[in-house]
Amino acid sequence: MNDDAYRHQIELRPQPHVAHESPTHVMTSLAGAITLGFEKGKFARPETVLRGLNILMTYQENCVANCSYCGMSRERRVPREDATFIRVKWPIVAVDDLIERSVQVPHQMRRLCVGMLANHQSFDHSLQIIRQFHERTPLLISGLITASLIKKRDDLQKIRDAGADRVDIAIDAATPALFEKHRGRPVKGPHRWEHFWWVTEEATKVFEPGTVGIHLVAGLGETEQELLEACQKAQDMNVVTHLFSFNPEPSTLLGDYPQPSMGHYRRCQLGRYLVNELGVSVHQFRFNAQGQVIDFGVDLDVLARIIESGQPFMTSGCPDEQGETACNRPYGNGRPSEKIRNFAFQPGPQDIQDIRAQLWTDWAGEDIYQEVGHELER
Ligand code: SF4
Repeated sequence: MNDDAYRHQIELRPQPHVAHESPTHVMTSLAGAITLGFEKGKFARPETVLRGLNILMTYQENCVANCSYCGMSRERRVPREDATFIRVKWPIVAVDDLIERSVQVPHQMRRLCVGMLANHQSFDHSLQIIRQFHERTPLLISGLITASLIKKRDDLQKIRDAGADRVDIAIDAATPALFEKHRGRPVKGPHRWEHFWWVTEEATKVFEPGTVGIHLVAGLGETEQELLEACQKAQDMNVVTHLFSFNPEPSTLLGDYPQPSMGHYRRCQLGRYLVNELGVSVHQFRFNAQGQVIDFGVDLDVLARIIESGQPFMTSGCPDEQGETACNRPYGNGRPSEKIRNFAFQPGPQDIQDIRAQLWTDWAGEDIYQEVGHELER
């Protein structure tokens, strides 16, 4: 889609008439709302246990940015209460109720994630909310930063001092050109690639080593090589990548854009895991002319065992005190009825079989990798 096409599709969203806004109210993930009893429902897979509570600021004018793929974007044409984020509902709840329930209702959540929007009040409000949870609950806290709101290192220190032990910067797009196209000037957005990476680097100077992450979204038009090189760029800064799969939100600029193929996503997951968790360099990988991975740079029998473990395909998210993923986001990439992209639990034997089949679809590589999958199936 070219830039003009974007401009012609932009319409202002209707302004709702409700006063439930941050800092007294936040949007909470559907999984969190179910776990704490705000919403009825159960997880499609019974082995799912929510380990992290994800919340987002909420404002009548929504986000002032206009990212092409985002359910919170300024010009999305649905009222705020009907809006979805990553294609599931995010109920608006009072912060006091959320804090009370998170200490009274039995659950296994270990981490809270406080997500900002690009709204001038959002930085101060997120500090207030981080402070309240830090003082009143035992949850570890991540700040999910909108980098455009961060002007100086002191801003990051304020997030740390309020009680967050980790931060993530939602860079989302893997290359400067894709970032600009989806988040920058063509969509009349305030975000700038260089600034987001500058904030990421500053965060590594403020937070403990290994406690800064970025978000990347696979499926915004990047190749596997581009996405994995962005993971490597972060890893070289001692910054981990938390990976998401693009999922089209109705009424956004990318509402009709397809999800990335399962093959693309599975190879990105496997590559990210090798780079972030096992110290393999992307420079050891080989790619074909389409930028698809044709060699992950490790022995095939080792690779087969890594795939068999299921670990690369589990949600990559901020950890608990033991280093296990706490932010496991059961609905993080879509609805329960859809094929699971990020597993919120240890994949079972049938899941692994499905993953092996998905890994080499839509792929122009060498047969040798397909043989790895087939050998394991025998
Ligand atoms: S990985 Fe999860 S907890 Fe960490 S910043 Fe991202 S959404 Fe928040």
